[in-house]
Amino acid sequence: MAYPKCPHPKCEARFFEVGEVLPDGRQDPVQVLQCSRCGAVLGVLENLAPVQRELAILRSLLEKPQ
Ligand SMILES: [Zn+2]
Repeated sequence: MAYPKCPHPKCEARFFEVGEVLPDGRQDPVQVLQCSRCGAVLGVLENLAPVQRELAILRSLLEKPQ
């Protein structure tokens, strides 16, 4: 099995964590997957919290007795 590793040539760590980045001009932070050792950002994580809130509202409306 292949294991992911940090793409930074001087790091190559195999441990990652979820971090937050606040890009210029934004009010809300963006969640990213980053290397636990050097902090290199490997990708952006989709924020599903607003979608999950909407789904919960829709679900409660559908389950409401008529
Ligand atoms: Zn790294």
